[in-house]
Amino acid sequence: MKNKLQITCIVCPLSCCIDVEEKDGGHVAGGYECSRGEKYALQETLDPRRVLTGTVRVAGGRLPRLPVKTTAPIPKGLIPEAARLLDNISVEAPLRCGELIVKNFAGSGAGLVATRSLEAGGQKPENDVKR
Ligand code: SF4
Repeated sequence: MKNKLQITCIVCPLSCCIDVEEKDGGHVAGGYECSRGEKYALQETLDPRRVLTGTVRVAGGRLPRLPVKTTAPIPKGLIPEAARLLDNISVEAPLRCGELIVKNFAGSGAGLVATRSLEAGGQKPENDVKR
């Protein structure tokens, strides 16, 4: 890391600009309005993480793909490999929203879960609204 970084806090809409500096062998943040910003800036500097969202193939479903996400933010450096792994996953309908698709996805420690329910082919969910 450079000696000084500027991080825009995304924890709330105020978007504080936070400085993170190397100091005495550690890192110090300044310019935040609250402790959530300090925590975010240090995490983003030292171990940036993101929730991965995407879709996987579905066999026998009303739709051909199922939206999924990781159960927790995973290391940012792992995102490209994890996104590629989604191409190799195929599940079978029916599936429930929140159903675990893969444990310890990409070795991240986080699970991969369905973000919607999906019935077997041809059926529509009771709460399905035509738009
Ligand atoms: S530092 Fe606090 S007040 Fe500022 S954007 Fe982050 S969460 Fe919001």
